[in-house]
Amino acid sequence: MFCQVIVDIAHEDVDHVFTYRVPEGMSVCPGMRVRVPFGRMRAVEGVVVEMAQACDLPPERVRDVTDTLEDYPAVLPALLALAQDIHRGSFCTLAQALRLMFPAQMRGERVSDRTREVAVLTIDPAVAEQVIAAQKRAPKRAAVLRALAGAPGREMPCDALRAQLGACRDPLLALQKAGFVRLEQRESLRTPYGEMERLAAEDPALTAQQAKVLSQLLPAVEAGRGAFLLYGVTGSGKTEVFIRAVRRCAQLGKTAIVLVPEIALTPQMVLWFRSRFGEDAAVLHSRLSPGERYDEWRRIRRGDVRVVIGARSAIFAPLERVGLIIVDEEHEQSYIADNAPRYDARDLARIRCEREGGVLLLASATPSMRSFALAGRGDLTLLEMPRRVNDRPLPEVHVVDMREELRQGNRSVFSGALVSSLRACLDAGKQAILFVNRRGYATFVSCRSCGYVVTCDQCDVSMTYHSADDALRCHYCGREAPVPTVCPECGSPYIKYFGVGTQRVEEEVRRLFPDVPTLRMDIDTTRTKDAHERMLSAFRRGEARVMIGTQMIAKGLDFPNVTMVGIVAADAMLRLPDYRSAERTFQLLTQVAGRAGRADSPGEVILQTYDPAHYAVEAASRQDYRAFFEEEMRRRKAAYYPPYTLLARILCEAQDEAAAQSAAQSAMRQMEAFFARRQYLQKYVLALRVMACPVRRIKGKSRWQVTLKIVDQPVCQEAVGKMSELAQTPVPGCALVCQVNPSSMM
Ligand code: ADP
Ligand code: ZN
Ligand code: ZN
Repeated sequence: MFCQVIVDIAHEDVDHVFTYRVPEGMSVCPGMRVRVPFGRMRAVEGVVVEMAQACDLPPERVRDVTDTLEDYPAVLPALLALAQDIHRGSFCTLAQALRLMFPAQMRGERVSDRTREVAVLTIDPAVAEQVIAAQKRAPKRAAVLRALAGAPGREMPCDALRAQLGACRDPLLALQKAGFVRLEQRESLRTPYGEMERLAAEDPALTAQQAKVLSQLLPAVEAGRGAFLLYGVTGSGKTEVFIRAVRRCAQLGKTAIVLVPEIALTPQMVLWFRSRFGEDAAVLHSRLSPGERYDEWRRIRRGDVRVVIGARSAIFAPLERVGLIIVDEEHEQSYIADNAPRYDARDLARIRCEREGGVLLLASATPSMRSFALAGRGDLTLLEMPRRVNDRPLPEVHVVDMREELRQGNRSVFSGALVSSLRACLDAGKQAILFVNRRGYATFVSCRSCGYVVTCDQCDVSMTYHSADDALRCHYCGREAPVPTVCPECGSPYIKYFGVGTQRVEEEVRRLFPDVPTLRMDIDTTRTKDAHERMLSAFRRGEARVMIGTQMIAKGLDFPNVTMVGIVAADAMLRLPDYRSAERTFQLLTQVAGRAGRADSPGEVILQTYDPAHYAVEAASRQDYRAFFEEEMRRRKAAYYPPYTLLARILCEAQDEAAAQSAAQSAMRQMEAFFARRQYLQKYVLALRVMACPVRRIKGKSRWQVTLKIVDQPVCQEAVGKMSELAQTPVPGCALVCQVNPSSMM
């Protein structure tokens, strides 16, 4: 017996199968991970993709499989097929595509047992500082102490320490001997549900809209066929539809996947599913520890769970008999993996459904242009829920023209209307949410005399002022710098802060309402594990009355007591040089507004803008998705943008500007030559350009790009394939990547 193996080496030259003999007594099947000798390497991991009875190579050239890594196939047949699709569709090696199919730590046997060794700092961090200072000749020991002193609870699993610092067994033993550190064996349960509160899990009676949607959806689930787009306004009760559909799926002995943008951002969805499905639900997301991730994966693979909830990569959940895949907030960019292996989880969801006999359900209050266009063509069946649960009204949106406020002498970040609405809400004993799309205090710092703007010296972006540590920080690379007291350009002392961030808004609320407890949610306040869940629970319990936050509070949150939402600056996003900026603005404004008035008291939204006539702002203020969709599609068509066209780029990043530029120019010449040889493609090309990226430098690397705009026709994939191939050809000193309809063009 022979087997065909893809070895776990992501290199073009070995991007094909190799044949091995299966020794007597070893049982091997497709999808199994094996260890094989390879070239001069004694043992390389690989995945069996096919079995063969015979082999046409001379027997002495065929080597034996060394052993199997698990006694079951880690990659299910359907996922093996999916890996092939990604390999072909995104021009990555099959080895790269296969790596998506099981947790990274299963490779190279990095899985730890259920008991883990943990290193605990036993001395005070201040004492540790002194010890560190004394360890000049033992830098590894000092590094271990520093890592422990900085870790939550002053302890770290030894494998995490090793991952961070390299081998550190001996230093740990020495530190234990000296009495600075204690090593403990701990049973690790690794359940990711630790802090989650339990909700009562009674089924509500369905609303008429929910019942109608389910009457179309459930028969499709039973038949195992169909693709739907559920367009339901915020608060229309989409989650209950998901739950009922998943339950029907389970009753039929099938399984389901629920994709959410980023699970840490939508803990409520997890909560609802856990309270209704208990142990039958598994959660996969980026904040799980490697051990938790591996344990959840195994639970799924063993067939112990009925439904998997997770971010983008949960589309690779090793479930059998998939009967339903739901993509919630389907318009979110986070479903696209930009870098190799590049994929769009929504497309993979469709492929999995078609292949495995499942139903696809995309859902959003603000569907993506592409999906709504597909529904218009009949490629997706449109389901609608135009009203909120129990006919609660959509919140009333008041647009405030901030230019008018300025004219009337109001220079503060809040308009008169926002302050009075907030006061009325607080007086009524309700809660409010204020949305700001930038974190920090001021978004840039500039000289009033000469206009100089402080930018990061590693990135071509302005630095943000953070009041908590009175420093400037770069949001691209994290670099910090002190605030200049005089202008480095002209020596003027008139340094001024511009642009409003979350810290500034929080300060302003505290100034106006000194007795009202506030809570700020942005990347800076939610870095630690579970911080998110803790803050959301605190707000739900009413411990804070005003929540101030960025994008992360816009989605999926359901707080019955929130009656007022303030959008402090609606249009910063509109000015981004990206063809999707209007769409993103519309989505965000609609989603944020949708947080208000979800229970019995009606909601009010104050939308502050400098551009009240903009069609995205205007449509969002009326929450009129269709009007926005039609206007936006008209503009996309006129300007040849997706979904009418494909945008692709080769991004070249190098320390040296000239290297990035010359790599881009060379790629450009090759693309020109490619098109010159293909008359039939030329008529589809709308633009092919080489230029510096809008953000010329990030983390010290200069950035150039070749961009292609081409009609979205099947034959044009060949051009994208060429770009991908060029991006995979190594250029010394320069990193190249190919992106298609990338989530950011910056
Ligand atoms: P969406 O995701 O569409 O914005 P949700 O699923 O969050 O809406 O539902 C909005 C609110 O309505 C939630 O508080 C939910 O518990 C409630 N709800 C949903 N369906 C029902 C129902 N059939 N009866 C009563 N309340 C419901
Ligand atoms: Zn100056
Ligand atoms: Zn920077």
